[in-house]
Amino acid sequence: MTITDFPTTASGVRSPIPDRHGPSLGERALAAPSLGERALAAARFQLAEASRFLGLDDGMHHMLATPRRSLTVSVPVRREDGRLEVVQGHRVQHNLSRGPAKGGIRFHPATDLAEVTALAMWMTWKCALVGIPYGGAKGGVAVDPATLTTRELERVTRRYVNEILPLIGPEKDIPAPDVGTDEQTMAWIMDTYSANAGYSVPGVVTGKPTALGGSLGRAGATSRGVQIAALQALAQTGRAHSPEGATVAVQGFGKVGALAAQYLADAGCRVVAVSDAGGAVVRPSGLDVAALRAHAAETGTVHGYRDADPLSHDELLELDVDVLVPAALEGVITADNAPRVRARLVVEGANGPTTPEADLILAGNGITVVPDILANAGGVIVSYLEWVQNTQAYSWSAGEVEVKLRDLMENAYRAVADLAAERDLTLRQAAHAIGVGRVAEAHRMRGLYP
Ligand code: NAD
Repeated sequence: MTITDFPTTASGVRSPIPDRHGPSLGERALAAPSLGERALAAARFQLAEASRFLGLDDGMHHMLATPRRSLTVSVPVRREDGRLEVVQGHRVQHNLSRGPAKGGIRFHPATDLAEVTALAMWMTWKCALVGIPYGGAKGGVAVDPATLTTRELERVTRRYVNEILPLIGPEKDIPAPDVGTDEQTMAWIMDTYSANAGYSVPGVVTGKPTALGGSLGRAGATSRGVQIAALQALAQTGRAHSPEGATVAVQGFGKVGALAAQYLADAGCRVVAVSDAGGAVVRPSGLDVAALRAHAAETGTVHGYRDADPLSHDELLELDVDVLVPAALEGVITADNAPRVRARLVVEGANGPTTPEADLILAGNGITVVPDILANAGGVIVSYLEWVQNTQAYSWSAGEVEVKLRDLMENAYRAVADLAAERDLTLRQAAHAIGVGRVAEAHRMRGLYP
């Protein structure tokens, strides 16, 4: 078959693959950039800015902009009705200079290599910023878990893990939950890895059920970190020395968003609006977050909650509140809607929710953004504590875990806020300067092999 034999698609691009298999590479290149490509462009922009600030040479900048290893795998899955479907998965290890790679696994239909690369890069800076001895990694499988049965999900998970098996391990690369994955997913990963090893290896994943060596406090750790960062920012920006009555809107009501809303409400804040993929709800006098969580657990969405009014997804981002917590996906605060954001503080529970263009607009409007690599670092901090407990075959109490989490979060926040004040940077620029600087320092100290 020569190139001229390929069928021409509707868009006029010659495709080697018939249409029913989706767009060809040529069509994809002509299509608008994916969410992941935009996230990767943002991550590269932030790195370039940090590299300039730190005076890194071009070679070092190039090395830090390039993932160390990327693996793309095909995951064949047998559906309940007997059909065979093939989905794509990825695992990217962005940097290993400060220790084994660490990062979540995302199950989402739109995930692609670019998104996973961006998320892995942010993991590298995050681990360095909070001072835990890991490099950055991320994984993703392009499936919608909501459309799979539990048995199908288990098969996808186990087969994906089998395909990335050569890369992962407690001393090499340690996955954790992210969008669309949870404790159960981590249990299947641990079991698949252990079955191949021939013995139980709890330290291969974090965010496991406590029955399998998961850490107390891990399930709520990212949200607890968001709460700690939000309260520090509220105090620092002078909005409130006590969080009492500060108003909060949360986008995304999953593992991070629902508990972030709960912990902020527990601290005295008034959570007035939340959203998830199914819709958004608002109650200016304050939502009963526990009741809303129960409603979402029962129905699968916050939509339809009785003691609140419906709201559009866009309206939630533009509410006049003290704190906006984006805790869903990347690229939601953009140049388009940033001029209409009225929150005083944006505390990024999600990774990459604010584009670089939006960052400029928010800063120009006096809105403080507590960046993802700081605000949502609580998850990887307690993942690290879980891994330490697993490798020592020891466990800490919930109180001990929380003290260590708080200590690392508060130290990181202070370091970022101090550098930002000293050098007139945004909190994101300061956080990246610290994270990227520490990774560059590790490279310099280790030297280059051979
Ligand atoms: P999750 O799958 O548990 O929850 C995602 C939530 O976002 C769901 O409620 C979903 O309905 C909602 N959502 C999706 N599209 C939406 C939209 N357009 N508008 C409003 N809501 C929408 O995922 P998670 O683990 O809570 O992760 C959320 C974010 O936090 C991601 O960016 C993830 O990378 C980041 N993060 C997660 C962890 C962790 O420990 N799970 C740690 C650090 C960062």
